[in-house]
Amino acid sequence: MPFDPAFATIFPRTTAVRDGRLSIGGCDAQELTRRFGSPLYVFDETEVRETCREYIAAFRSRYPDTEITYASKAYLSRWMAAVAREEGIGLDVVSGGELAVAMSAGFPAARCHFHGNNKGEDELREALDAGIGHVIVDNFYELDLVARLARAMGRAQPIILRLSPGVDAHTHAKTTTGTLDTKFGLPISTGAAGQAVVEAMRLDGVSLVGLHCHLGSPLFSLAPYDEANAVMLAFAAEMRAKHGFELRVYSPGGGFAAQYVREKPAPPVEAYADAIVSSFLRHCDAHRLPRPRLFVEPGRSLVARAGVALYTVGARKEVEGLRTWVSVDGGMADNIRPAIYDAKYEAVVVNRADDEPSETVTIAGKYCESGDLLVRDARLPRTAPGDVLAMPASGAYNLTMASNYNMAPRPAVVAVRDGTARLIRRRETYADLLATDVYGE
Ligand SMILES: *Cc1c(COP(=O)(O)O)cnc(C)c1O
Repeated sequence: MPFDPAFATIFPRTTAVRDGRLSIGGCDAQELTRRFGSPLYVFDETEVRETCREYIAAFRSRYPDTEITYASKAYLSRWMAAVAREEGIGLDVVSGGELAVAMSAGFPAARCHFHGNNKGEDELREALDAGIGHVIVDNFYELDLVARLARAMGRAQPIILRLSPGVDAHTHAKTTTGTLDTKFGLPISTGAAGQAVVEAMRLDGVSLVGLHCHLGSPLFSLAPYDEANAVMLAFAAEMRAKHGFELRVYSPGGGFAAQYVREKPAPPVEAYADAIVSSFLRHCDAHRLPRPRLFVEPGRSLVARAGVALYTVGARKEVEGLRTWVSVDGGMADNIRPAIYDAKYEAVVVNRADDEPSETVTIAGKYCESGDLLVRDARLPRTAPGDVLAMPASGAYNLTMASNYNMAPRPAVVAVRDGTARLIRRRETYADLLATDVYGE
């Protein structure tokens, strides 16, 4: 049986199978593990760039005054920041660490925007020092803090208020962020958001330019964006009428879905762009609001498909009549998503990608937790120790959530393009694990 065409939209678009051998970006997957070791994360540069271009085209063709800002917590490295810079998209950061990586890659600070529900004073100072574009203020504590820091620098920092519109995006409980009962944002329904607008307009040291919300992730349905736009833009109109607030920037956040498994496709970028822009324009016009600049913040959907994790098979355990376990050399230390979100993945044997599946196995990681599974009930041809498995859609929230659990050195990362593989992060060593342990020195 040839490589299932249903995989085509999960793997990077440069993926090819010839004589059963899987290649990404013109690089043979098994060869990559021979050269760079296993487990290995492979990012397809063409896929990332094409996706950036799709976002820009889809939104700007409908509303030219759109900025695409990538939520870098999905995956960040100097390489990723460089690609984002070259493609003309902005960068959302949620910590001083993310900002430091972006700055070290020469990313323009004015195109970085600082999110988060509890930014530290040091982090905010670093951001202001760097010349960050906007600070997305989450609460009153932060509003005062940003104003004080900016005043001390003799500046007025452009800020955007993060609001919670009270919209349930019907995603995983751990990743819904737009409801009333969330730690994120100033609730509209309690009056907190209105109070924050008044306060921000009055305070020296900040310049209130806009409003933001983010509903959660991943959103396979488009309706929540319209619900949020309705609430947010009605609120903006109310603030305009009552306080003369001028909405110059508006963001409905990110949360666009990625496809992880064959049976659950994600809406295309065009569908999100269509739904969001048409709803945004409709609500602006209904309230006679001058149309602000639109910020759209894809994270997951910009990088998930570009990343493929490669693991090597080791132990096999058969429990008669119950389950067969195939263990690999990675797991929850590099991909915690199955353990915490019940996330689903596909797996393919990279040198026998055309082989008919012959058994159902559960792919387990190597770490000391029963929850350390990668794929429950995967259909695979019979595997043997040494076989390499590719798990697609591993580009988002894998490496950025990776840990050194069990003192696991984190994997190497390569970027592939046109048949060339480039190491962008070397595998961690035991010396790296000890580098911060200063006891006995
Ligand atoms: C995480 C985050 C995003 C991106 O979410 P995705 O689901 O990865 O698209 C966008 N905006 C904000 C404020 C975020 O925190």
